Amino acid sequence: MTIERIINKFKENHPSENAAVLEKAYKFAAMAHEGQLRKNGEPYIQHPLHTAYILAEIKADLATVTAGLLHDVPEDTRHDLEEIKKIFGTEVSNLVRGVTKLGKIKYRGIERYRENLKKMFLAMTSDLRVIFIKFCDRLHNLRTLENLAPDKQKRVAQETLEIYAPIAGLLGIGRLKWQMEDICFKFLYPDQFHDLEYKYEVERKVERNRFFQKIKDSFIPKLEEAGITYEIEARFKHLYSIYRKMQEKDKQFDEIFDVFGLRVIVPTIDDCYKTLGIVHTLWKPKPNRFKDYIAVPKPNGYRSLHTTIFGPEGRPAEFQIRTKEMHEESIYGLSAHWYYKSKKERNNYQSPSWVKEIIEIQKEITNTTELVKKIKLDIFRDRIFVFSPRGDVFELPEKSTPVDFAYAVHTNIGNKTSGVIINDKLGKLDQELKNGDLVEIITEKNRLYPNKDWLKFVKTRRARDQIKQFAKESTFQSFKRFLPGIKQKSSK
Ligand code: MN
Repeated sequence: MTIERIINKFKENHPSENAAVLEKAYKFAAMAHEGQLRKNGEPYIQHPLHTAYILAEIKADLATVTAGLLHDVPEDTRHDLEEIKKIFGTEVSNLVRGVTKLGKIKYRGIERYRENLKKMFLAMTSDLRVIFIKFCDRLHNLRTLENLAPDKQKRVAQETLEIYAPIAGLLGIGRLKWQMEDICFKFLYPDQFHDLEYKYEVERKVERNRFFQKIKDSFIPKLEEAGITYEIEARFKHLYSIYRKMQEKDKQFDEIFDVFGLRVIVPTIDDCYKTLGIVHTLWKPKPNRFKDYIAVPKPNGYRSLHTTIFGPEGRPAEFQIRTKEMHEESIYGLSAHWYYKSKKERNNYQSPSWVKEIIEIQKEITNTTELVKKIKLDIFRDRIFVFSPRGDVFELPEKSTPVDFAYAVHTNIGNKTSGVIINDKLGKLDQELKNGDLVEIITEKNRLYPNKDWLKFVKTRRARDQIKQFAKESTFQSFKRFLPGIKQKSSK
């Protein structure tokens, strides 16, 4: 890797910016790391160079790429943060400080795991760009993982799969998530990885290309007839997501129907819907597989139309239809979020609400195993958006129920819940809510306590905790009636 390549990559995305500081940061880092070698024998400076390049690829801004070049200087060399601050200013030195605080990868048991998580989320609440640097640093370390001892390889891969990749997903940086996952998959489950790789890349390649061609043959003339300019790519799922699907649904490779997918990129939102119309005219859609993430985007900002159809020979295929801008957002996520904003809007690097939620969980739970379990349960699950009758939007974990929604609105509403109307129809309290549902909770004024049976199906920590608390209280209250000496506390 060379600094010229990084500058060129950066200039592709930010043509009008003066990138001279990158050259300066490179020279400083090269001088500081002089004589240091990586495990594979190459000069250490190659690592910060690669990190900075990946940052430039995900459209990070100038300060972030600069900090990427300098990220290992304070920890590994005689040059400290003060010096970096003097030469490169506060913004860059704060970013480097943030990355340094996150520390080196020294995963030792569950306590270390907890510390890592905690530091990472704290960094996120101050400046998300620190996390982008850490992710790119990790990705390059993964790419050179074969130089480490096998047990260390497995530890790093496991930690990445459990912490880094899900966070990258939450931040919408699909590109980093997929790359991390496939590398970790290879190191953690080498046999399964190579088996799938062979099936996918070798055995099925011809068949896949033939199927793709058939679809294109009937699809393209219709697009041209409608005057829509398009880009079509066969969307090959990454191997880890196929593997995970096979595990989750306990299915064989042949049964994973949406292995085959197509992505259609068109100029405008209007074209997206027109294209969807064409797809549905040509092939029969599979029921319940259509998702409009343009009208109701995913919480991480993802937008697209998804539909699964029965294609040629009755074989199912999944279409994703989106504009160029949506496509870029899906790859670069929040890392490119500010890229699309004007300079004036760009000074806010605040993190999304779920980050604050994690900080709250951290404060409450000190038992590590429990903490990791909760975070996996509450945060790393996919999120949905649900609307109240007033049009307020609530973000909930996937598979949440109306009771979870009620508690998200207000504890009092949760406690007094007696029924629910979903999209103008009477619903059940334990049914799963879907992205975009309009939910109206029916309350019973005189009700004091929630139903303990709700604990069997609620998905959020908030609902669970509240129900438990009131369940305890209600038992106590009814018990107290038999103890005349105790003064009745007014109930909440
Ligand atoms: Mn590093």
